[in-house]
Amino acid sequence: MPDKLITVAEARELVLGAVTPLGPERIPVVDALDRVLAEDIVATGDVPPFAASAMDGYAVQHGPAGRTLAVVGESRAGTPYDGPVSDGEAIRISTGAAVPEQASAVIKQEDVRANGTQIVTGAPIAPGDNIRPAGEVITAGTTVLRAGTTLHAAELAVVIAAGAGQVAVARRPSVRVLCTGDELRDPGDPLRPGEIHNSNGPMLVALAAHLGAVTTPAEQLADDRAATRTALQTAIEDAAVVIVSGGVSVGPHDHVKPVLGALGVKERFWGVALQPGKPTWFGTRGATLVFGLPGNPVSSAVTFALFAAPAIAALQGAPPDQSAVQAEAALGTSVKRNPRREQAIRVRLESREGTSVVVPNGPQGSHVVTSLSGADALALIPRGDGQLEPGTRVKLVALPR
Ligand code: AMP
Ligand code: MG
Repeated sequence: MPDKLITVAEARELVLGAVTPLGPERIPVVDALDRVLAEDIVATGDVPPFAASAMDGYAVQHGPAGRTLAVVGESRAGTPYDGPVSDGEAIRISTGAAVPEQASAVIKQEDVRANGTQIVTGAPIAPGDNIRPAGEVITAGTTVLRAGTTLHAAELAVVIAAGAGQVAVARRPSVRVLCTGDELRDPGDPLRPGEIHNSNGPMLVALAAHLGAVTTPAEQLADDRAATRTALQTAIEDAAVVIVSGGVSVGPHDHVKPVLGALGVKERFWGVALQPGKPTWFGTRGATLVFGLPGNPVSSAVTFALFAAPAIAALQGAPPDQSAVQAEAALGTSVKRNPRREQAIRVRLESREGTSVVVPNGPQGSHVVTSLSGADALALIPRGDGQLEPGTRVKLVALPR
């Protein structure tokens, strides 16, 4: 390993500095799940588009209880009542239906006594009661979402409500995952002595896919120089991001670094003052980003979260601050510090005596894959002596899922 390890923050800066965002494309909003907006979304109309009833009841003029009103028509969702409403009249109305212009309130049906074609109001009703004014939620012309926002289900709903049918989103980066290791076997395959299942491959592909990348199944490579070279060459030519799991340490069977050098991939850093994840490697060839992540499953997931995930997001135009530290929380337990390396521990949120705290999600060894499942975030523990006491506030970074 190199003598000088760079900090996590320095490594993230080097990664983000190497990213050239991909351009935008226009696609139907219904196909835009998990994509990153490449434009601000401005509402083309009011939401709701018309004054709408918040209740099933009657559109009326406001007034006291005890009035007898003639029911002269109906406004249904999608089929407004088209006519005047005078003082002594009421219009049957459904939730979400347009309130006739001359009505000043809606009285809910629980508050009236219906009697043939008449109702008797059982409660006083004030102007605007049970009416959702046009534009109450979104006013036409306002910006509802900014470029750089990821479109999850809720954001899709907002964009569609704001009137958009097509959206400009960032092109998706292609991501190839290569797993090195003679010991690796496919999921479910029987294991001979010394073998393990390749859990990193499907995990890293899933993480990249959830971040909007175009992925293919992970490729598995023997610890063999020629095979490593052939596979890496193809991947670098095809993809915007190449992620190699394992083989970046200094053992006699670790071929990734020399092969990447031979293929003209320029090393940007190797070795981060991070636990787990020290032997992380990052380089570029042209605009292609190459990550060499340590093979232990937790190291792979943590270094993906800290370095590869921000790059995949930034390629899609996400602002750099989106991938930075997102929150703080108090520790619920003490955590021993590492004198030389910042730790990224998997934590889950818990409630202790009415306050939210974070606690380690099980044993923290870099091989303990189970500490990833059910974790809510990574907590960053600064390097130093001794331990952090319960109650110490620590920085949190999102764990992509
Ligand atoms: P390496 O980074 O190649 O030295 O591997 C470090 C540790 O991670 C070793 O115990 C490997 O067996 C394990 N490992 C490497 N690749 C994978 C993988 N794809 N899935 C699960 N464990 C792995
Ligand atoms: Mg290996």
